[in-house]
Amino acid sequence: MNHIHIMEDTLANKIAAGEVVERPASIVKELVENAIDAQSTQIEVTLEEAGLTSIRVTDNGKGMSEEDAIRCFERHATSKISNEHDLFRIRTLGFRGEALASIAAVSKVSLWTSDGEDQGTVVEIEGGKVLKHEPGALRKGTDFTIQQLFFNTPARLKYMKTIQTELGHTIDLLNRLALSHPDIAFTLTHDQHQILRTSGSGNLLRVLSDIYGVSVARKMIPFEKEDADFKVNGFITLPELNRASKNYVSLLMNGRWIKSYPGTQAVIDALHTYLPIGRFPIAVVNIMADPILTDVNVHPAKRHIRISKESELFTLIKEAIREAIQKASIIPDAIKKE
Ligand code: ADP
Ligand code: MG
Repeated sequence: MNHIHIMEDTLANKIAAGEVVERPASIVKELVENAIDAQSTQIEVTLEEAGLTSIRVTDNGKGMSEEDAIRCFERHATSKISNEHDLFRIRTLGFRGEALASIAAVSKVSLWTSDGEDQGTVVEIEGGKVLKHEPGALRKGTDFTIQQLFFNTPARLKYMKTIQTELGHTIDLLNRLALSHPDIAFTLTHDQHQILRTSGSGNLLRVLSDIYGVSVARKMIPFEKEDADFKVNGFITLPELNRASKNYVSLLMNGRWIKSYPGTQAVIDALHTYLPIGRFPIAVVNIMADPILTDVNVHPAKRHIRISKESELFTLIKEAIREAIQKASIIPDAIKKE
């Protein structure tokens, strides 16, 4: 007797959602990354109760056709890769075609979208079931609203922390997305209060000022260096301005914020003789590399990636920062050589 059957899509999506949709910030991440991939220049995020009541992400990107507006909720539906060759040359933030299917499996989603070619489309979907699909959007772009998050996964809902903690995760995330895309104007509004606004001017130092304040930006210096495989640039605070946490060091690989303990350590090491123990810089490090040197397909959230020639990269980062700090001639000669 056979016992095995292929599970239904709604069940498979709910299982995948367990990995992709951990909390409101994970939904904001997926929706904003999609808006970035759609070449938006303006992205607005609006939350009610830190996203537990509602999350809305509006963009002015390329939008979707009527057919795509339904298809985007299907599992493994993507416009970003089409064959194995593409998988090793990813230049977009998304490629798994899983996020929207997962989000729609555990919430109620309203989508308004228009690609500017026809009149646009409205789709409503709840727990993976399409409730509404009709013509309706106006301007080119996309507008997603997520409500009733985790209504059908009560255990996950119970895990949500306080509004302040959940909001903190989203602010952290949006700061990093804004730092990785200075050319996009972001806003984050929570319960009618605007929390973040960036200009989209393309100037990274300006974004740093929007996020950390002008007094921090004024104490940051640029650095830049390249070798045959990597190009790195960014800004770092002069040693006199420092923080008690390593969290203010952001590493971006080809426009994607990544978590890398040794990468963060390379930044800290570059300064460590100038900083007291337990104090860390504020820094943004942009790394540009041929995507063939990176593997982002390690975890669904794509925060951890594999990098070939990693130690060469970390040495480059360290040297770039060291040289910039020494050039800024703020370190007394007597301790420079240590
Ligand atoms: P992935 O991003 O991995 O392709 P998603 O489930 O996040 O998978 O999205 C599925 C598809 O829906 C995307 O490939 C894209 O074509 C389309 N899409 C999603 N969000 C947007 C958006 N804001 N603007 C335009 N197209 C979008
Ligand atoms: Mg996506």
